[in-house]
Amino acid sequence: MTCDLVLTGNVVLTDRVLEGGFVAISDGRVVAFGTGTAPAATESHDHGRALILPGAIDPHVHSRSQAGHEGFAGSTRSAVAGGVTTIVDMPYDDGDLISSAARVHAKIAEGEALARVDFALHGTCHPDEGPLRVAEMVGAGVAAFKFSTYGTHPVRFPRLPPQTLAACFAEIARFGLVAGVHNEDHEVVDAATAHVRAHGPADHRAHGLARPELAEVLAMAQVYEIGAATGCHAHVVHCSLGRGYDLASAYRGMGHRATVEACIHYLTLTEEDDVARLGGLAKINPPVRPRVEREKLWAHLAAGNVSLVSSDHVSWTLDRKNDPDILKNASGVPGLEVLLPLLVKGLTERGLPVTWAARLLAENPARHFRLTHRKGGIGIGRDGDIAVLAPKPRRYLAAESGHNAVDWSPYDGIELPWAVAATYQRGRMVFDGTRVLAEPGAGQFVRPLPGAPE
Ligand SMILES: [Zn+2]
Repeated sequence: MTCDLVLTGNVVLTDRVLEGGFVAISDGRVVAFGTGTAPAATESHDHGRALILPGAIDPHVHSRSQAGHEGFAGSTRSAVAGGVTTIVDMPYDDGDLISSAARVHAKIAEGEALARVDFALHGTCHPDEGPLRVAEMVGAGVAAFKFSTYGTHPVRFPRLPPQTLAACFAEIARFGLVAGVHNEDHEVVDAATAHVRAHGPADHRAHGLARPELAEVLAMAQVYEIGAATGCHAHVVHCSLGRGYDLASAYRGMGHRATVEACIHYLTLTEEDDVARLGGLAKINPPVRPRVEREKLWAHLAAGNVSLVSSDHVSWTLDRKNDPDILKNASGVPGLEVLLPLLVKGLTERGLPVTWAARLLAENPARHFRLTHRKGGIGIGRDGDIAVLAPKPRRYLAAESGHNAVDWSPYDGIELPWAVAATYQRGRMVFDGTRVLAEPGAGQFVRPLPGAPE
């Protein structure tokens, strides 16, 4: 047998690392992996001591939050350069809430024309329609649903009250998909914001105080109770606080499907070190918290209580992030280019196995979105999606690579011990360590496996 491609290096599986291992790919799929003599291949690359990881799945990306700006071509360019081979895009597009089959179809068409990596989609429900269009969006191919307990914007990012959330969850449960929710209690945030505006402080601490911890955990309790009441898998799309992971774990202990996602910024940045320095550039909802919470999140990750890790990538132009009044800035940061290197850095710095990267960025998200027929780690028959991380320390600067829609990042200046040396999608090299080789349209839409509730 002669394969199309063989890669050699330290192959990272979900449960062990094959030192001096190989991965063989033919017709876009993994056909063999292991140690010892690799099969003959038309093309082969020896990556030496580099890590051969499954291409990452970023479960939480906002490609179209700012109309006329980044879009799929831009977000997936950062993705390729970061070893991310699948993105799952959020439904809160500027001027276009993805809340019907027609809008899902239109977004798929746009992704197929512009995306450089594979993509799956979230759908959502309009507050006035409730669960009316859940079934048609499932038919159109969404991999999950996303809602918010906070009204960020009446059109782009609306709030769903609890009774509407419950009706939507009950309908989603019929299809065995996951309902993900942005977890901030609307009334608590609005009251705290008014208080901070009236009484201060006016510096970087204002944002954390305007969106207090109680807002997050109250919303999480609501989300998990609605999951428990409806039988729907309830997922919280980001949590900045250790307490939130305790809650998710407690609901799982009671037999419910309750999961939670840690964005890479909560695992990397802190209020004291980074928000203080960066102001609006590090404004994210929920807020980046004090150092003590970051360390709690790593303890939860080590204990297996973190289900997914995401970038929550959004590339606001600088004019929306540089207001000296932190509360006036847009919320969110770009992160697709560094999600995987930052997670591997955090794992190795804390003595955790690098196999956690394969679980958190491939196996778990593939299962979560029912994409296991194509994605989910290095396995026979799965897509030949690979990220190669070489031990090449450098200081990150978003503007330097030329692969990002904006030339700022909250991670600018951070030391990265690992660099993405190559990215392969379905057996084709799409990034060579310097240049993005994937053109817009190279990515495929990935549809979830049909299924019923477990
Ligand atoms: Zn988000």
